[in-house]
Amino acid sequence: MKLNKMSIKYKLFLYMTVLVALMLIMLWMFQIVFLDDFYKQIKTNDIKASAENISDNIDNEELDTLLDSLSQQRETSIKIFNEDGSEVYSSDLYSDSTEHGMRYDDFYKLYQKALDNGGTYFEISNREIFKGGPGGENPFVGNIKEPRRDFAQSMIYVNIVEKADGSKAVAILNSMITPVDATVDTLRVQLIYVTGITLLLALGFALLISKRISKPIIKINKSAKELAKGNYDTTFNGQGYLEISELNDTLNYAAKELSMVEELRRELIANISHDLRTPLTMITGYGEVMRDIPGENTPENVQIIIDESKRLTTLVNDILDISKLQSGTQKMAFERFNLTQSIREIMLRYTKLTEQDGYRLKFISNEDAWVNADTVKMSQVIYNLINNAITYTGEDKSVTIIQSISNDRVKIEIVDTGEGIAQDMLPLIWDRYYKVDKAHKRAAIGTGLGLSIVKTILDLHEGSRYGVLSTIGQGSIFWFELMTA
Ligand code: ADP
Repeated sequence: MKLNKMSIKYKLFLYMTVLVALMLIMLWMFQIVFLDDFYKQIKTNDIKASAENISDNIDNEELDTLLDSLSQQRETSIKIFNEDGSEVYSSDLYSDSTEHGMRYDDFYKLYQKALDNGGTYFEISNREIFKGGPGGENPFVGNIKEPRRDFAQSMIYVNIVEKADGSKAVAILNSMITPVDATVDTLRVQLIYVTGITLLLALGFALLISKRISKPIIKINKSAKELAKGNYDTTFNGQGYLEISELNDTLNYAAKELSMVEELRRELIANISHDLRTPLTMITGYGEVMRDIPGENTPENVQIIIDESKRLTTLVNDILDISKLQSGTQKMAFERFNLTQSIREIMLRYTKLTEQDGYRLKFISNEDAWVNADTVKMSQVIYNLINNAITYTGEDKSVTIIQSISNDRVKIEIVDTGEGIAQDMLPLIWDRYYKVDKAHKRAAIGTGLGLSIVKTILDLHEGSRYGVLSTIGQGSIFWFELMTA
């Protein structure tokens, strides 16, 4: 079974087992295998530290008291001789008989070894325990009342110490090494139990934890499958821990986005087909009438066909524009130009409209504003906004364009006196194919793409801002800002 195909349950158990095994191996190592070495090492360090202590305090007046407590604390026998073999101090830790006195040749041998070794000498002696008579090399162990003394080990540390007056003293420290075999046996039995119990616990925990971890994942997986089938109402609600609740949020967000895209797609198809069908029906209808009924071949009817064809062209161009802009295939051509002047030129093109249909277009500006932008695209933005304003403005047919400059920004506001837009619709009108009132007689003219194009173009201009203020019954103010250059 490959590791990433493994269920989380087994994986967790595997990891837990590895962890437990490592811990147990460590326990076995330290408690069983290396216990003896550790113990000896600690003892060795102890005895050396004591010797150090003696050497530091050899001239101390309280030396005897110090040595008494040292030998008690560390369970070490201490003897100190002068160079000539006379005893200066002897702790009575293991002393109860004649052996307590040390023979000169014993002392001398150890002293010699220490001398050869540069002042100190350390040895762990394994020999048979000295008992009952002179002659043993180890002057201390003979006093142990331990039945296993034959196997007992002891360590001896010899340290030649220089006194303040220049004479030398020899400190001989001796410490028993208690055999650890019995302890190890006990520990081994204990560890067998500990190992068994820990493994069982690890299994239990792994099962428990994996259940808690995998349950929400399984739940989410089920919901995700629903989502994949196209069921966008799916909600994700796996709970239990942070990552899962984050995953939940992400998936819920994705589901929402997907459902929006799906809705947009549906609307898009509905809109396009509707928008394309209307002019096409008109064109076909009028064409047929003109063919079949001789008197109907009038310039007015031809004009209708031309107008409808134009609408088709606009629609197709809008769709192309926006997809080009959004896919990034159409690049922006930034240049410094007089925005105020270009608005004035645009206004000129509306003269016919103002003269014929009674629209009142006004442009208010104090000074000329220069911007760094794409001239053609900015004209399109302005056209779209003015066209909308003209389409939706009120009975007074007035549209006002106001330019204001503050700091490094120029703001253009297009004000109409129409019905206004409901607050909750405001964020939506910038979407593709969105029309507030689909039944609105005038809205039928529009493609629903105008503001989406405005938004896309402005988004491609760095530092730009745009928005709309609208009051129902009073009209709307569409505005945008560009950095002046
Ligand atoms: P359309 O081609 O339908 O005008 P737009 O993207 O330009 O498409 O506008 C989207 C919708 O926003 C319009 O259908 C309309 O409902 C609303 N809208 C745009 N401009 C105005 C305005 N000046 N006053 C009222 N409603 C507006």
